[in-house]
Amino acid sequence: MVDLVRRKLVTLARGPAGQLSLPWLFSQQQFVDACTRCNKCVDACETQIIQVGDGGFPHVDLTINECTLCYRCASVCSEPLFKAEPEAPWQADIQLTDRCLALQNIDCRSCADACEPMAIQFKPIIGKVAQPNLQTESCTGCGACISPCPADAINLVLRET
Ligand code: SF4
Ligand code: SF4
Ligand code: SF4
Repeated sequence: MVDLVRRKLVTLARGPAGQLSLPWLFSQQQFVDACTRCNKCVDACETQIIQVGDGGFPHVDLTINECTLCYRCASVCSEPLFKAEPEAPWQADIQLTDRCLALQNIDCRSCADACEPMAIQFKPIIGKVAQPNLQTESCTGCGACISPCPADAINLVLRET
């Protein structure tokens, strides 16, 4: 019989959002097959961004706070679900939507102020407020830019694998 909760979770993790799979997973399918829903990762997360979602499966919500990339969620898990720490936490890209205030010519740089690796920079444009410019090669996927955005204009979107 098709497990609708598991199928929905695979879809969810690939969707746009603050709502993402946990970092460093080998695959979302392996996760929904083997995660025991013990919630040890939920308790271990230092920024409390791991939430319990559909079917009791944990996911990350970057609208709450950033991921410090501390690796605790992976370290406390007793199942073989997570890649080694040196690997990239997510195959994901940061995206700005047209809700961005600066794109609507309203001065705002909250995302750049929150981004330690300076992956969001603002370029002066004649006749407009400074416009955001993503340096995707510098983005760590930490999501620190997401919760300070007053327009809810930033998503971290998983790449299709
Ligand atoms: S790496 Fe750390 S901050 Fe990020 S989800 Fe895991 S426990 Fe939370
Ligand atoms: S914080 Fe949000 S609204 Fe402000 S410039 Fe960045 S993306 Fe645009
Ligand atoms: S996800 Fe992190 S590194 Fe990437 S743009 Fe946002 S704050 Fe900067």
